[in-house]
Amino acid sequence: MQRLWSPWRSQYVSEAGPTQEGCIFCRFPEEQDDPANLVAWRGEHTFILLNRYPYNTGHLLVVPYQHTAELGGLPHATLLEMMMALRRCVAALGEVYGPDGYNAGMNLGSVAGAGIADHLHLHIVPRWAGDTNFMPVLADVKVMPELLEQSYEKIATALGRHDDAAQ
Ligand SMILES: [Zn+2]
Repeated sequence: MQRLWSPWRSQYVSEAGPTQEGCIFCRFPEEQDDPANLVAWRGEHTFILLNRYPYNTGHLLVVPYQHTAELGGLPHATLLEMMMALRRCVAALGEVYGPDGYNAGMNLGSVAGAGIADHLHLHIVPRWAGDTNFMPVLADVKVMPELLEQSYEKIATALGRHDDAAQ
C-alpha cells in the first residue's frame, strides 16, 4: 500500500483553521467549544444555539444534528425533540428575560429568508411590547442591550435547569 505524505497540505489545513465553506450547523456540534460557538444546550437529536446576529436579545435557534433542508427528511424523533427544545427555550427565556411574547418559526428555502437554507433550523425570538416600533426598520443598526457572552451564560444555565420530563 502506497502512502502519500504531503506536509504542505497539513500545514495548509491547520493554518486555514475551521473551514468557512462548510455548514456551521454541522461544524458547531462536532467542535468541543460550545461557549465560543454559542451552543447553549445539546440534546439527543438537536441542539440550541444563540443567534450571533440576533433580531432581539435572546434570539435562539433549535437545530437538528442532521443536515437537511427538508422537513420530510427528518425522523419523527427529531421533529418531536425540536418542539420539546422549543418549549425548553420558551421556559428558559421566560425565566431569564420575562418577555411579553415570542415568535417561533422556520424560513424554509432562501426565498423565504433562510440564511443557511441547506440545514433547516427553528428560530425563537423573544418579543417585548413596543419592540416593533424600531426592530424591522432599523434592524441593521439596532443596539443590543446585552452582550452575547452575557446572554449565553444566563440562557445556557436556564436551559439546563429545564427538564422536559418535569414539565
Ligand atoms: Zn449542516
